[in-house]
Amino acid sequence: MKGICFRCKKEIKIEIDDKKRRFSFLYPYKGIELSIELFRFPNECRECAESDFLRDFKNYVEEYDLLSVKEGEVRVNWETYINMSGTYVGDKMTEILMSIGILSTKRLGNWDIVSSYSVGLNPWYQSQIYLYFKRKLDAVEYSRLKWGDTLYHWWLKKEEKNKKHLIIDKKDVLKLIC
Ligand SMILES: [Zn+2]
Repeated sequence: MKGICFRCKKEIKIEIDDKKRRFSFLYPYKGIELSIELFRFPNECRECAESDFLRDFKNYVEEYDLLSVKEGEVRVNWETYINMSGTYVGDKMTEILMSIGILSTKRLGNWDIVSSYSVGLNPWYQSQIYLYFKRKLDAVEYSRLKWGDTLYHWWLKKEEKNKKHLIIDKKDVLKLIC
């Protein structure tokens, strides 16, 4: 179905299918290439979705120095992220961390911080959507900063299909060197 992009008024194909609205591209940042995955709105063109993202990236990543690069890998300044959590800026940061493959809504194959009360200790998006860490490194750094001083017990857990669950206990997380 033909229509126009609600932003730039260019003629586009209106796309309802989620899979077809998803697209990715590489973005050079501090000497590496970030792989960005985005969704465009059904009535939005790719270029507009991309420029929207890049504007947010400038305002919420570069402005707050949220990301750095160490040994060819992107690193998140989790302290800044934690300080901004629960705010509009924090949610914008979360959107970007999802787009670049740091946080995910998928539980399987990703890291969770679990306590004996089984309350999720990972980040939330808009206080509603629970998120998981794709990399162990991030789960370790985040859990240390956010929950390292708590008196109660927690651990990191990663479940994978047909595999033994990986568990790292709080006391080991606090000792790990990343
Ligand atoms: Zn457009």
